[in-house]
This record gives sequence, C-alpha cells and structure tokens, in this order.
Amino acid sequence: MSNFWDRIKPAPKPVSATDAKLSADGESLTLTWDDGATTTATAQVLRQQCPCAACVDEWTAKRTLDPSQVPANLRVLQMQPVGNYALAFVFSDQHNTGIYPWKHLRDITQSQG
Ligand SMILES: [Zn+2]
Repeated sequence: MSNFWDRIKPAPKPVSATDAKLSADGESLTLTWDDGATTTATAQVLRQQCPCAACVDEWTAKRTLDPSQVPANLRVLQMQPVGNYALAFVFSDQHNTGIYPWKHLRDITQSQG
C-alpha cells in the first residue's frame, strides 16, 4: 500500500486523501487529507453511502439501498485504491462494487478533533 501512496502526485482537485487506515477490527476507516484534515467513518456508514449502481439509481440518483438494512456490526474486510482518485471496499456482507471517489469520502466522513 505504501508504494501506491508514494506515487500520488499533486492533482488539480479540491482534496485528495494522502493516507487511509482501517481499524484492526475493520469497523472504521480513518482518512488523512492533503489539506491536513483527518476524518473518519464507520464501515456501516461507508456501506450505507455506497455509490454503486446497485445502491443508487443511476438515472434519478435516488438511493435504493435501505440504510436500516445495514447492520451496525458491518466490517470492511478489504480496502484497495482505485487509480489515484478513489478507494474500493469489500464489506463483510460481501458487497464490493462501490467505488468511492475522494470527494464522496470527504462528504460522508466526519472530522476528527
Ligand atoms: Zn453498492
């Protein structure tokens, strides 16, 4: 993973993450951003905000996933970078089709301290 992060070049985008860490139990993600902010979200929130076509209607942008169907004990089993613009996750419910661009991750995570 460190090789990937080392290769990131400054991009003309508002924000991008410079580091991403999963908690040991996979229940939360912490992101460090190039503007110095640190944000975090639980696996449950990430799953609830999945932007894939199975969770959001592509034409209306309306969320078709019922957030109440996502259990609080959901975990991220695996995380991987997508190019240098997004992250993808494998969740413990086996859902793995979401690609989370930095802007979406910034929107759905909460500032820390
Ligand atoms: Zn999805």
